[in-house]
Amino acid sequence: TRPLSTWAQNIAPSPTLAVDAKAKAMIAAGEDVCGFAAGEPDFDTPEHIKEACIAALKSGKTKYAPTPGILPLREAIAADYAARAGLNFTPAQVVVSPGGKFSCYLAIMAVCSPGDEVILPAPYWVSYPEMIKLAGATPKIVLADDTTGFRLTAAQVEAAVTPKTKLIIINSPSNPTGAVYTRAEMEAIMAVALKHNLYVMSDEIYEHLIYDGAKHVSPATFSAEAAARTITVSGFSKTYSMTGWRLGTLVAPAPIAKAVAEIQSQTSSNATTFAQYGALAALTEKEKTKAAVEAMMAAFDRRRKYLHAEINKIPGISCLLAQGAFYLFPNISKFGLSSAEFCEKLLEQQKVAAVFGSAFGAEGYLRLSYATSDEMIKKGVERLAAFCANLK
Ligand code: PLP
Repeated sequence: TRPLSTWAQNIAPSPTLAVDAKAKAMIAAGEDVCGFAAGEPDFDTPEHIKEACIAALKSGKTKYAPTPGILPLREAIAADYAARAGLNFTPAQVVVSPGGKFSCYLAIMAVCSPGDEVILPAPYWVSYPEMIKLAGATPKIVLADDTTGFRLTAAQVEAAVTPKTKLIIINSPSNPTGAVYTRAEMEAIMAVALKHNLYVMSDEIYEHLIYDGAKHVSPATFSAEAAARTITVSGFSKTYSMTGWRLGTLVAPAPIAKAVAEIQSQTSSNATTFAQYGALAALTEKEKTKAAVEAMMAAFDRRRKYLHAEINKIPGISCLLAQGAFYLFPNISKFGLSSAEFCEKLLEQQKVAAVFGSAFGAEGYLRLSYATSDEMIKKGVERLAAFCANLK
């Protein structure tokens, strides 16, 4: 048989999904596993969102939708950006896709050609390097470790720019670190992007999951010049606990949005039609959504503080208190094991599932998701402490 494509041969499967699948298989086999690997909220989708989807399904919204998404949803997304961020997008600048992941892929496919370089801050979300490679471009990985709060400086960006650089990816709040850039930090990075005429993909999927009074910043709001080169990606998965619905959003200058919609028209066609009506309810039934999101946020914040405090009690581990998303990224380098070995042993010996830092381009760390129950976190962190005590 002939070999598969270079794309198929070069793609690395998602390590986060793999660790999570292994943990779930162990649980299914009756093992008592504490899972810190999931990248999804442990809550159900709020009831009013499910009801709106059911109503749409019953009323026959079961056919193809317009490629960029149903108009009322695109209008609601544009209105939401206008109300929150003062960003004035027309519905023609909005594209709804089957998941924020696909929105990212479309954005990269719309701006990157073979030979282009993409500046990718590490620790990075696992899918970015693979998407960049699928576009034929090259990821230029720049590491920001815990000494700078996992946030890249403008000087690091400047040093990574070459004549081939086409795009920079920014993800604040970050998966895997939970880091949130300040406005000043983001402005400094945007100044470098503008100076070198780069496109910017700002993945803001965790924009509503922010703690300690930190402020989310959208680079597209900085200036007309910034808006003219920024593609802002977000979605419904994390904020509204809708991971299985597969609904992502993208807003961009009209020519980019048009290109993105054209690629979508030849690949996925559109996001699931009746699911889009559920998303519409998330944005329009504001009071109900607000109450549901606040309840989830209160739980996340409680767990974040608890996990952070307990982790830092473990000799040998140090962990920053992240201000966003639902992840902590503790430093385990003192134990002298690779992060992959650490995670493998942790799962074998203590049945605790966590994702190794090297999956995110940062050796010496673990990603712990606290989107799991308080009891699970308590039990998991006790086991982690026992594991570390044994290693010493
Ligand atoms: N971007 C980041 C940084 C993520 O962590 C995720 C999900 O894990 C996504 C995008 C995509 O989420 P979805 O495809 O569920 O909308």
